[in-house]
Amino acid sequence: MKIYLNGKIVPQEKALISVFDHGFLYGDGIYETLRVYNGQIFKIKDHLKRFFQSARMTSLNLPMTEAEIENALYKTLQANKLKEAYIRIQITRGYGEIGLDPALCPKPTIVIIPKEFHGHPEEFYQKGVSVAVVNIRRNHPLALNPKIKATNFLNNILAKIESLKKNAYEAIMLTIDGYVAEGTICNIFFVRQGVLITPPTNIGILEGVTRDLVIRLAKSKYLRVMMENSFKKEALYNADECFLTSTTMEIMPVTRVDGKKIGNGKPGATTKWLLKGFREKYVAPYYKK
Ligand code: PLP
Repeated sequence: MKIYLNGKIVPQEKALISVFDHGFLYGDGIYETLRVYNGQIFKIKDHLKRFFQSARMTSLNLPMTEAEIENALYKTLQANKLKEAYIRIQITRGYGEIGLDPALCPKPTIVIIPKEFHGHPEEFYQKGVSVAVVNIRRNHPLALNPKIKATNFLNNILAKIESLKKNAYEAIMLTIDGYVAEGTICNIFFVRQGVLITPPTNIGILEGVTRDLVIRLAKSKYLRVMMENSFKKEALYNADECFLTSTTMEIMPVTRVDGKKIGNGKPGATTKWLLKGFREKYVAPYYKK
């Protein structure tokens, strides 16, 4: 694999950064994961908008414009001849002496890592996955706002470790107040009596690009039955359907929460309708270009 590192495309073995990089020392950096369908980056403008928001919220001066980042992403894909992939762009505070002052790091480190990817196994979409509500709470927005797509991922990793011990595919984190927030790498929705519900972003979650597309798709059909509302984990136990959303998952059906069967234990009709609609409306156009 060839990696983009500070303006150069280099072989993976040569893509090395200093132990003094503040991304390594402090997890001081931001990133985006983007999906590539048929050689084209999915909803690139939405991802770049969020990337620049993460940069602003961490006072990280991005040394590239949106157009330059887009070019660098495509250059990396082309260097690897990738058409179906995901691609991660990461910018850290950069090389600097030990210490927390961002002024110690005059130049950010920019890395782009691509990977061939054809989607998650079809079986997951047919059968649905299981999730576990974990004890680790999502970072409070006044501590480290989950709106920032930060490379500092220990909150999510601790949640993941807990869910792995429970043999769950994904961990669901609650807010400090006990409301359902999100997964470690995804947003969550559920359906109850025909109403589609997802937590509002102001409770402290990442504003997922897929989440937003699903809301738009649902509103086009469901109109008033799509709601952004806070809810507790018991609402998930009593849900008729549940699913996760992310750039790599698209819409992933959930059929068990904490070992409890959701609905009839199979991916629900609304979930399947949304996944089909998502692929037809948003993904298929990339194969017509
Ligand atoms: N929530 C978290 C914590 C994530 O890390 C991600 C994706 O990486 C998401 C939600 C889903 O966001 P998106 O749909 O933009 O991939």
